[in-house]
Amino acid sequence: MKGLEMELEDGFPASRLFSQGVSYTYDDVIMLPHYIDFPADAVDLSTRLSRRVSLSIPCVASPMDTVSESSMAVAMASLGGVAIIHCNSSPALQASLVRSAKSRRTPFVHGPSVLSGSDAIIRTFDDILPAVVVTDPEKVPIGVVARSDWERLENKDVPVSAYMRSAPPPVPAKYDFEEIAAFLAEEKLDLAPLVDEDGEVVGVITMEDIERIRGFPKLGKPSLGRDGRLLVGASIGTRENDKERLEQLVKAGVDVVVVDSSQGNSVYQIEMIKHAKKSFPELDVIGGNVVTIAQAQNLIQAGADGLRVGMGSGSICTTQEVCAVGRGQATAVLQRSHRMPKDHDVPVIADGGISNSGHIVKALVLGASTVMMGSFLAGSHEAPGVYENQGGRRVKKYRGMGSLEAMTKGSDARYLGDKLKLKIAQGVVGAVADKGSVLKFIPYSMQAVKQGFQDLGASSMQSAHELLRSNVLRLEVRTGAAQVEGGIHGLVSYEKKPF
Ligand code: 5GP
Repeated sequence: MKGLEMELEDGFPASRLFSQGVSYTYDDVIMLPHYIDFPADAVDLSTRLSRRVSLSIPCVASPMDTVSESSMAVAMASLGGVAIIHCNSSPALQASLVRSAKSRRTPFVHGPSVLSGSDAIIRTFDDILPAVVVTDPEKVPIGVVARSDWERLENKDVPVSAYMRSAPPPVPAKYDFEEIAAFLAEEKLDLAPLVDEDGEVVGVITMEDIERIRGFPKLGKPSLGRDGRLLVGASIGTRENDKERLEQLVKAGVDVVVVDSSQGNSVYQIEMIKHAKKSFPELDVIGGNVVTIAQAQNLIQAGADGLRVGMGSGSICTTQEVCAVGRGQATAVLQRSHRMPKDHDVPVIADGGISNSGHIVKALVLGASTVMMGSFLAGSHEAPGVYENQGGRRVKKYRGMGSLEAMTKGSDARYLGDKLKLKIAQGVVGAVADKGSVLKFIPYSMQAVKQGFQDLGASSMQSAHELLRSNVLRLEVRTGAAQVEGGIHGLVSYEKKPF
């Protein structure tokens, strides 16, 4: 009996579990609890996105055209994370999205909906927009149409001039939340356009928004750039003309760029990283995607300040099926984080495959400094696109940047297919359920992550990584039955309310 006890180990250290030639993903593994001597609220999730860019929560919105534009950028930075504005648009449009996010100080869910000219006719009204701003050809607001006014119209085929309200005084977008609330109250307005320094409309704010946002969890420390404004990231490709894109983004005030390739270890990306570092030494440049140590080393040598890890793990991704290349995401994150010498000091972004807070805990404890999310954030109010009704459910489109639909719009460079005559999809087009505002569900998700850290005895990102490196962290692989047991099972019916 004694001999048997001696042989039984309480779980495996990561270094042993992940060196057996098996590709694991988050759901395959489970972490064993350790010792708690602090409250969950004491867990500090502050971290680094890249060498010189700090965040107060480890959340990054993916550079995808159904995830990250200016509303997402403002919301994520206000929460202490960051969004990377996608490059599936012209450089000028992408730069204007960066500028728009940079000009705001508060996370409002309504992007600008602007109609030019009072003879325009509104036939449909996006169901999350409270109002549409009508401008003259110089882009100066001349009126607003409140959703309720439009809904009351019996005949909607009339120009807005017939029923629009005269334009209320605009609110400077640089005002913070309390300043805007005070402005609306003083002017006795129920809504007003938000304008940037050039007088351009960048959003609409209503008194109802103010009340709703007051009901959200309190925002923590926002992520700020060196200019003191909200931190905004953007992606670039690896083509020659992306050098021009980079310049426009820098002029727009971007704080960090991500070189966006599905297989980052290429001569194209290495040259782009070198070019960006040489042209803008103060700008942090994140490389990727990588899943092996050799790939990572090449990008670090080229000058990458951060690494995006993951290949084929995204929810909309078909790379592993189509190309037979990639890696299980838990293994990819662990390999890169655990094995690289510490002195390289290049933080890891675990990119793709996050569908619950437990996945975030696993990614961070396995050595990532942040998680990059697509599907987790798509479907939120802040994601681009409009809600549709699909079988009685409110959904928003979410598509892979390697889907034929997105590539037709320009994202083919990410998949190195730009010079190929025949395009092969490495992603799909789908839809995700309405999740409400990231301003609500991200704080709750972070509280869940803190509780996971507490169970493991990790009071900060550094202590989580130390648990891993010192082999105090113990893990096991879950069988299929154990995974079923770890989920809800054996009930006839249930309601799952995460918060
Ligand atoms: P998710 O969070 O939805 O699981 O994954 C998002 C990640 O999937 C993105 O950050 C990006 O790395 C990756 N991705 C986005 N679009 C595609 C695609 O069409 N194909 C592949 N292979 N990966 C994609």
